[in-house]
Amino acid sequence: MKILLSGEGGQGIQTMAKILVGAAYNQHYKVNYMPHYGVEMRMGISRAFVTISSDKITYPKFSKADILSVMTKRNLNLVKEFIDKNTKVINAIDLVDLPEERNLPTTSFNMIVLGIIVKEINKSNIKIDKEKILEEINKFLGKKPDLTKNRVAFEVGYDLADNMYSKLLKSVKPDKFEPIINKDDKKEHIIYPDICKGCGICLIKCPVGALSWDKNKKNFLGKPIPKVDMEKCIGCGICEDICPDAAIKVNKKSKTN
Ligand code: SF4
Ligand code: SF4
Repeated sequence: MKILLSGEGGQGIQTMAKILVGAAYNQHYKVNYMPHYGVEMRMGISRAFVTISSDKITYPKFSKADILSVMTKRNLNLVKEFIDKNTKVINAIDLVDLPEERNLPTTSFNMIVLGIIVKEINKSNIKIDKEKILEEINKFLGKKPDLTKNRVAFEVGYDLADNMYSKLLKSVKPDKFEPIINKDDKKEHIIYPDICKGCGICLIKCPVGALSWDKNKKNFLGKPIPKVDMEKCIGCGICEDICPDAAIKVNKKSKTN
């Protein structure tokens, strides 16, 4: 069974893979796990190639997946080549709001998708015991807050109706994002929705409360992004400095400009 997990750096793709192979290994399956991501620590494309087999795995690399999970649109072109007519595609792109709808933390999205993956694996001759997955969740996420909610999120994914995640990828159109530019005679404030992951740090750190959530504009994850109140903004640049993903640029205009 060849499984390709794909998403953004920061979505917990590699954690999903480790939990999955840990549970399978503990059931005496042969496993192989190959992480694949760029030099970016965060917000780059992240993929994990996982093989689970009853027999010895002689060549772990694969070019077609039996199961492919896709968590964001930015992955589309990088994963299409791994699909053939037998691939079960788990299209989780539109499930991004599910954690909120189920009163779960947004960070548990990966556990929902893991639940779907395990459910799909269990339709084959490989059977992953849910309890083994929950043990691995305890192991990997036990020291983090929301352990119980992550366990619940896994169950939510496991019980999700097939039609919730079976939409064909070709019907998904990649997003096109433009920078959001606000300016006045003293400063220019730019937010990049294709980079902003909606963490909210800038909202907390702005010294004058000039940033709030813009529910009408979405980032590449389909989540709200910050908007700036230019009347309040003093152009201090703290939001630019504090943003972990360089998704804000502040240009203060000098008097000679
Ligand atoms: S602009 Fe940066 S700090 Fe603010 S929400 Fe987006 S990613 Fe987080
Ligand atoms: S430049 Fe300073 S005042 Fe303006 S939004 Fe950023 S942190 Fe707030």
